[in-house]
Amino acid sequence: MLKHEVLKEITLVVGKQNVFTEPEDLHCYATDATLGVPVVLPEAVVKPASAEEVSQILQIANRELIPVVPRGAGTSLSGGAMPIQGGIVLETTRMNKILEIDKDNLLAVVEPGVITAHLNQEAAKVGLFYPPDPGSVAFSTIGGNVAVGAGGLRGLKYGTTKDYVLGLEVVMPWGAIVKTGGRTVKNVTGYDLTKLMVGSEGTLGVITKIIVKLLPIPPASRSMLAVFDDLNNAAETISAIIANRIIPATLDIMDKNVIRAVEASSRVGLPVDAEAILLIEVDGVEQVVEQELNRIREICHQHHVREMKVARTAEEKEQVWAARRNTYGALTKINNTDLVEDATVPRSKVPDMMRFIVDIAKRYNLTIATLGHAGDGNIHPNIMFDRNDPDEVHRVEEAIKEIFETALRLGGTLSGEHGIGLTKRPFMRWEFGDGGIEVMSRIKKALDPNFILNPGKKF
Ligand SMILES: Cc1cc2nc3c(=O)[nH]c(=O)nc-3n(C[C@H](O)[C@H](O)[C@H](O)COP(=O)(O)OP(=O)(O)OC[C@H]3O[C@@H](n4cnc5c(N)ncnc54)[C@H](O)[C@@H]3O)c2cc1C
Repeated sequence: MLKHEVLKEITLVVGKQNVFTEPEDLHCYATDATLGVPVVLPEAVVKPASAEEVSQILQIANRELIPVVPRGAGTSLSGGAMPIQGGIVLETTRMNKILEIDKDNLLAVVEPGVITAHLNQEAAKVGLFYPPDPGSVAFSTIGGNVAVGAGGLRGLKYGTTKDYVLGLEVVMPWGAIVKTGGRTVKNVTGYDLTKLMVGSEGTLGVITKIIVKLLPIPPASRSMLAVFDDLNNAAETISAIIANRIIPATLDIMDKNVIRAVEASSRVGLPVDAEAILLIEVDGVEQVVEQELNRIREICHQHHVREMKVARTAEEKEQVWAARRNTYGALTKINNTDLVEDATVPRSKVPDMMRFIVDIAKRYNLTIATLGHAGDGNIHPNIMFDRNDPDEVHRVEEAIKEIFETALRLGGTLSGEHGIGLTKRPFMRWEFGDGGIEVMSRIKKALDPNFILNPGKKF
């Protein structure tokens, strides 16, 4: 329970209207988008408006040893934004200004609570774009994206959030406001604190300002949908496109369970009798785009594609991509719990991983719907189950262990983009061993000796 005097002190910093302590206000901050995880109510939700206010809150929390969980939009799929030890949820949504679009230096300076799609809308006005586009781009914050190292549909060609962050302003657990990196594209001065903070999942500091690179919008782009009667053929097509040295902006896969769920929810005309579809987008100079599209067509035919549809209009294209972005919503309607994993494997191993997931669903008698930014090896098996059925819950736990074991055996990693948070924490040692965990523990201890920032997460 937070002491009355402490709450009073915090209220003086951010104002009464930005501190919430009533249970009915706290409930939605106990969870994020992760399903099937036990929830704990925070004791207070605090909404600061500046780095200075964040600094004062952290100084109070550090003195009083109160856990603080930074939070953007709460769309984490790994339990990262859940206040599992109570304490304060520090929400950044009042820090939501796009401070600058610098079209001469191709960069933007933003506050962490900016919705990522809003940055793109502003950048587009001067012919620029911010490539990382998680499925949650329309409602997650850029601060959350940076804290997790989010990826997205364009990750294959353009990389992920970590490739675009040039500099940060971060408030450390003891209240110091520090700057990392800067506005230059090159910068090797000092330790790379920017890279340390990207993906630190709110465990090392609170990000209060972000400088990101922007790119010119490509002059041409074409999207297509390739329909397959065999999942394996679709998976082999992904590896073949990459092996042929074509790097589409997007190369996503949906299996039959995903297709049916999305179509039932969005009615965009997806082929519900297909075993898999690939969503492909190529962009660049018009002539090259056409060449790549033709080459991809050939590769799809070599892998027995049933049908290929190239979007004729921007509306047609957006309809399919919007349905893809709504996949998670569609899948959560199938049962009361959808656990989405994001183990990632080297690209040539995508067919092996897809086959393994089909096999594991059979062996554990589970419904698994698989989609993913498969072109970059990032596969999302969604396990839909009844969390009130202990036997099914046990089978899910065993299946998840095998999925992670297999991804690591194939040379992959536990998480390509959703972060470790709470749900993948037990498996970190498998990937890093004792040595790696010790290095990370020492970094955490050096920067947050009182363990106030997002305790119980990551490792
Ligand atoms: C429908 C749907 C689709 C999704 N698609 C994708 C996808 O394609 N790719 C992908 O990578 N993810 C995806 N996600 C997951 C999620 O949207 C991302 O992880 C996103 O980056 C989280 O942003 P957020 O603002 O919601 O952060 P939150 O969920 O609020 O927080 C996430 C983590 O970041 C920390 N954090 C937040 N803000 C700060 C800050 N300012 N300083 C320090 N730490 C902070 C939190 O403590 C927490 O650990 C999806 C989620 C949903 C629900």
